[in-house]
Amino acid sequence: MNLRSFSQDLMALYQEMGEEFANTQKRSGLACPTGCGYCCKTPTVEATVMEMIPMALALLEQDMAEEIYERIQREKPETCIMYQDHGGKLGQCTQYATRPSLCRLFGVAGYYTKTHTKELSICKELKAHYPDFQSIDINALNPAMMSDWSTRLISIHPEMLQERLPISLALSNALEKVMLYSRLDASN
Ligand code: SF4
Ligand code: SF4
Repeated sequence: MNLRSFSQDLMALYQEMGEEFANTQKRSGLACPTGCGYCCKTPTVEATVMEMIPMALALLEQDMAEEIYERIQREKPETCIMYQDHGGKLGQCTQYATRPSLCRLFGVAGYYTKTHTKELSICKELKAHYPDFQSIDINALNPAMMSDWSTRLISIHPEMLQERLPISLALSNALEKVMLYSRLDASN
């Protein structure tokens, strides 16, 4: 597989996906508090190795791939290694442009229940910040739906959403792949 062309296709989809979920959140009126990055601090953020290829390639281009790879082996972080903690709930993503799919739907996203009705998944911080969140009319909001985006991601590669790992481990595996790819590329 040509990792660079795969990454370009995935980035085009990520861009569209990020805009659609950001639009949903904007229309909902539930804006994230300034500087908040709390969702990135939880150890439950997961991604697949395929989803992390664009970030791994970006780190390779920034000449940071080996450094980040070694930090992950040494520190074995439970949370995302790319998060810059500003204290408390404040912080930011240092590789925001290439963040994986889950990171694009942290705030407000639609999902289907078992009975196929639409519900809203809203981050706990937003719920605490906007106690009247329950008054949102989901039909009027017409939110971006997670499952629609899962289908589109799988259309790029059948293994795209298989084997979710803690995000730093997924990044470490993706870095291994791109560093090997780059060495092979250089020797041809
Ligand atoms: S990739 Fe960025 S947005 Fe996603 S968890 Fe890590 S720091 Fe947060
Ligand atoms: S989604 Fe929630 S935790 Fe994440 S930045 Fe917004 S308010 Fe903060």
